[in-house]
Amino acid sequence: MEQAEPAGVSKPGNGLPTGVSVQGPMAKGTDDAAGANDFAASSATTLLVMTPESKVTSEHLKRSAYLYVRQSTLRQVLENTESTERQYALRRRALVLGWAQERIVVIDEDQGQSGASVSGREGFQRLVSEVGLGKAGIVMGLEVSRLARNCADWHRLLEICGLTHCLILDEDGLYDPGHYNDRLLLGLKGTMSEAELHVLKARLIGGVLSKAQRGELRTLLPVGLVYDEEGKVILDPDQQVQQSLRVFFSTFERAGSARATVQAFRRDGLKFPNRGPAGTREIGWQALSNRLALATLHNPRYAGAFCYGRSRTWKDAEGNQHTQRLGREKWRFLKQDAHAGYLSWEQFLANEKRLLENYQATAGAVRKAGPAREGPALLQGLALCGKCGHSMTVSYHHRQGKLSPNYECSVEATAKGEEPCQRIPGGSIDEAVGQLLVQSVTPLALEVALNVQSEIQGRLAEAERLRQQQVQRAQYEAERAQLRYMRVDPNNRLVADTLETQWNEKLRLLAEAREECQKQQQLDAAQLTQEQRSKILALAGDFPRVWQDPNTPDRERKRMARLLLEDVTLKREHDISVQVRFKGGATRELHLPLPVPVTISRKTNPEIIAELDRLLEEHSETEIAQILNQRGWHSSMGQPFSRTLIQGLRRTYRIKSRFDRLRAQGLLTARQIEEMIGHQTNRAKYWLKAGVLKVVKLGQHYGYLYLKPTQDELQQMSQRRRNDVANSKSTTHVYEAQ
Ligand SMILES: [Zn+2]
Repeated sequence: MEQAEPAGVSKPGNGLPTGVSVQGPMAKGTDDAAGANDFAASSATTLLVMTPESKVTSEHLKRSAYLYVRQSTLRQVLENTESTERQYALRRRALVLGWAQERIVVIDEDQGQSGASVSGREGFQRLVSEVGLGKAGIVMGLEVSRLARNCADWHRLLEICGLTHCLILDEDGLYDPGHYNDRLLLGLKGTMSEAELHVLKARLIGGVLSKAQRGELRTLLPVGLVYDEEGKVILDPDQQVQQSLRVFFSTFERAGSARATVQAFRRDGLKFPNRGPAGTREIGWQALSNRLALATLHNPRYAGAFCYGRSRTWKDAEGNQHTQRLGREKWRFLKQDAHAGYLSWEQFLANEKRLLENYQATAGAVRKAGPAREGPALLQGLALCGKCGHSMTVSYHHRQGKLSPNYECSVEATAKGEEPCQRIPGGSIDEAVGQLLVQSVTPLALEVALNVQSEIQGRLAEAERLRQQQVQRAQYEAERAQLRYMRVDPNNRLVADTLETQWNEKLRLLAEAREECQKQQQLDAAQLTQEQRSKILALAGDFPRVWQDPNTPDRERKRMARLLLEDVTLKREHDISVQVRFKGGATRELHLPLPVPVTISRKTNPEIIAELDRLLEEHSETEIAQILNQRGWHSSMGQPFSRTLIQGLRRTYRIKSRFDRLRAQGLLTARQIEEMIGHQTNRAKYWLKAGVLKVVKLGQHYGYLYLKPTQDELQQMSQRRRNDVANSKSTTHVYEAQ
């Protein structure tokens, strides 16, 4: 403000730059009377550079004055009206400095935007471009350095202002960035402003971090946990909320996946609590969603652990904010057993592991304990590698026209691009495990059936308790609404009406809750008596029959195996060891012979090969197949012989074909015959039909080879040919037609 007054005139030598104060006494010394006038005149000319008015030239006034109005946050916009007024007061300064009213441009698009970066601040960008285009004579703002909270932005603006001779005005004074001293001052202001922001932030974060380190930082707690009066984290005293969370965690433990937990909640008509608006202790009830279930399961606070810094936030060059979730080992603070919780830390870790496995199962990596799929492999999801402990995957191949499983430990190997750890043909293993189940299921069956039944009953009772609580709560709320309604002065009609409506609403909710509760009770009872009970009993009593029934689909057999077995560990060494672990801990170990490798198992008895070789001298492949079958011989895979099979064997064992054998014996092809007798094409066939030439058949599907014509036959043919030519051409036609 001081520069706004003509300081040099009213208080000479006081607080003025040195140049002025030196000049004053010098002028005084020469001539007193005239000197006073001179002083006034000369100081006015010297000070022209220094006063704000002198910085403003007609060149500046020809351009516009830009007033940049900004508040960092919306709250400031709403509450800090005083500073807004101060910003608009700058407009009056511009008028005083000589700008015409219509030349003053107000830029206030950036209200409510943080100044920490340019992006998203249209107004600031517009300001910079206007200045750059030389349209601005002056830029005004409250504490101009805060125009840009970021030094790079600020220096860019200063640079451009300097180049385009644009002035800068704030409450402290008027600056010309073209002047070195002013620019230095403005630069410092910008640096200070940025430093101030930095210190402020550091102090805030430091406070937060040191509190977090002590585990004392108050954060927004997930539903089910609250702060008590002393600021300690306790379980929500609301029993219904507590019970819901307990049921949630126990359901997950039983069901094994977030999705199944959600389905169980839906099926049982259970609601999940959620926090009301921040600062209130209201609890709302909503249907459990997959997302909510996952968030709840992943939240370590439920295991009584305090944690801070589970995610990292940063800004990119564009100024957009990004958030990344960090792995547990990268969390900033984690303090176990910091407060009460719903599960132990070990349970939390087990849940995390389970969720990861589920994720990998859906991602196709590990199939352990995934749902039973189609395909006959009995141990799908149950087989573990006896060498490294990983779950084994199933692949199928065709064997004797049937799908046969292979158990493979290839997860690690596939990831590293190596050979599988072990690969075991599964047909015989499945069979052996099936037999084991049939043998041992009788004593087990009852236990399993009882366990299943008691589990179902326990779950139903739990759900029932919760629904009863929901009814109680609705009743309580209805009663409270009634009380409120009763207490209100009947003359206050408007309030009474509202309260009555609320009461009615609560009564309606109560009726709904009761109805829902009854409906579920009936459903539960029906479920247990008919469907479940009969299924369980059928399984217990009829297991061997059901298991061996060829009509039982593979899928059902697998389900039964899963009900009875925990896992099966397979190891291939000098034999295949199969370690079967039943639910409940009992184990059995089986040893199966190694499967005969395909190349060996397919090897046909050498006797057969020799016989084949011998028979080929005399018989066609079809005939040989018939001969071998008549003798009661079978292929290596127990099949009867066929022409194709004989062919395959002949190729595999490189046995000379019948064709080659006959050719070697001197038999001739039709073409060779025709060349020999010098006749037209197809004539060999003619002589064959005429009964002159003789052939040997190669087989049903192949042609024949001609025996070499004897001297006598050759004469016969040439004799008959001469006769034919001597007869008529029509005869030739007859031959042709044939
Ligand atoms: Zn392995």
